[in-house]
Amino acid sequence: YTPGIEPQPTWCPGCGDFGVLKALKGALPEVGRTPDETLTVTGIGCSGKLNSYFNSYGFHTIHGRSLPVARAAKLANPGLEVIAAGGDGDGYGIGGNHFMHTARENHDFTYIVFNNEIFGLTKGQTSPTSPKGHESKTQPHGSAKEPVRPLSLSLTSGASFVARTAAVNPNQAKELIKEAIEHDGFAHIDFLTQCPTWNKDAKQYVPYIDVNESDDYDFDPTNRDEAAEMMRETEEALHDGKVLTGKYYVDEDRPSYQQEKQQIGEMPEEPLAERYFDDSYEWERSADMFIDDHK
Ligand code: SF4
Repeated sequence: YTPGIEPQPTWCPGCGDFGVLKALKGALPEVGRTPDETLTVTGIGCSGKLNSYFNSYGFHTIHGRSLPVARAAKLANPGLEVIAAGGDGDGYGIGGNHFMHTARENHDFTYIVFNNEIFGLTKGQTSPTSPKGHESKTQPHGSAKEPVRPLSLSLTSGASFVARTAAVNPNQAKELIKEAIEHDGFAHIDFLTQCPTWNKDAKQYVPYIDVNESDDYDFDPTNRDEAAEMMRETEEALHDGKVLTGKYYVDEDRPSYQQEKQQIGEMPEEPLAERYFDDSYEWERSADMFIDDHK
């Protein structure tokens, strides 16, 4: 990074990751979040470069670990707008355990998964969302397994906001990201991002249908059973080449992890980030202070 020169994305031409960047850049100012109030935490993969390309605090973690880092940052500094991001391999495979438990505990931040149904950065291997029969270097005779179904997994794990959008629809994506940011609790967006370089089926995820606006679909996103049924239909349809997107589930009543901890008196009155950086902070004693406080 050279100060004064805006870094240019190194993603391939036509990559769906550009759609996420565009939507995120549009959403943050519209919900009034400034760069110094925002932290983006990314995993490993083409998606992991996201926080190099726009103005916020950034933390590029190791593979599959964006969620525990995001959780820690939000607990230490609840005033930060935290956005975690990563690919389908990073989030649903390597970090799948973190995904399940972050949803179960309903941590209060947004998680965007760039879902291109393959591993892109490492050159096209089968990923957890590759459809059954998908051929790749690692599965030359076709994947024998059914893929992960991210929306259903998210709902059953406990996420309180679940949506799917696609890079070909940055306006819908921007609106869903805004809603996710404003939501109190774990907000998961499965973001379909085409990889024209390695997914030779060249899925562009078009034409897409917005299930919240189409007359062909009638469900209530606040009704868990109806949401589950709509998710099941959406995930099966994608394998038949039909792209359904939209807001699938929202529960505004369920308290976030932070709210629950506050209710039972387990959250410190003063966030960690503020305790150690006030005027009385003594840098040379910081390790001793931390250890003493946590004995
Ligand atoms: Fe995008 Fe695929 Fe290129 Fe990675 S390899 S930048 S996912 S098009």
